Amino acid sequence: GLKFERKPDWLKIKLTTGENFTEIKNMMRGKTLHTVCEEAKCPNIFECWSHGTATFMINGKICTRACRFCAVNTGLPTELDLAEPENVAEAAEKMGLQHAVVTAVARDDLQDGGASLFAATIHAIRKRLPLCSVEVLIPDFQGNWDALRTVLDANPQILNHNIETVERLSDRVRSKATYRRSLELLETSKQINPTIPTKSSIMIGVGETAEEIRQTMRDLRAVGVNIVTIGQYLQPTRRHLSVEKYWHPDEFARFKEEGMEMGFDHVESGPLVRSSYRAHEQGQLAGHV
Ligand code: SF4
Ligand code: SF4
Repeated sequence: GLKFERKPDWLKIKLTTGENFTEIKNMMRGKTLHTVCEEAKCPNIFECWSHGTATFMINGKICTRACRFCAVNTGLPTELDLAEPENVAEAAEKMGLQHAVVTAVARDDLQDGGASLFAATIHAIRKRLPLCSVEVLIPDFQGNWDALRTVLDANPQILNHNIETVERLSDRVRSKATYRRSLELLETSKQINPTIPTKSSIMIGVGETAEEIRQTMRDLRAVGVNIVTIGQYLQPTRRHLSVEKYWHPDEFARFKEEGMEMGFDHVESGPLVRSSYRAHEQGQLAGHV
């Protein structure tokens, strides 16, 4: 892997703060609820928050899985907090969000994998903010498609499930999720409700080739995925999976072009692109904002 310290120039970001951002930041200060944006120290926080986009984590903070790229804590999960949907909705309302992304740890200990709180959170946000689009970024529910149906029945504006990496590297990078099951989830989502746009993300720089990235895009397109995002993997700590390559911005631009040619409705591809980056634009694209 590449040295932890050495990052190319295009990954060194300028921190700019807007008026909107400062307002929201002050409002969030002192609240017990935290966003993924803050906890993951996401480089896009200024841009996203000033456009009214934020990501919340539900179903607790401890994950039953341990993917090698992920900084979320692993261990014995906590009891479900049934107040969580309402707390998230309240924060979304206070932040004046136009696009809320709701994600969760993988709860392999629960029969429905945590799907019911996804549904409750969608409803709670919609009640307070009828015009806010809600994107869910879900785990694979271990292939429990009834759980997937529970989420889809709450009518999210975007159903997002990350494939994360190319097929050859899936076993090494992800903990229990498999490439094929992720494709099956995205395909099943379309079968259950074809009107809900689907989305998936690939993080690159863990040892894949350009052709493998293209093949992953083709596989996603083949199961009807509408939106794809491609971003550079960055190692959260030295204990995590190391970076094998920093893809150049021009290469990201080429993947975007190729993705559009494959027929995706929207492709975000760039070194700092994260799953929910510019999600507000995709919400508009889906015709829901
Ligand atoms: Fe938050 Fe996602 Fe935007 Fe990062 S990309 S600031 S996690 S909404
Ligand atoms: Fe992180 Fe999700 Fe993997 Fe859990 S399942 S370790 S939250 S990427």
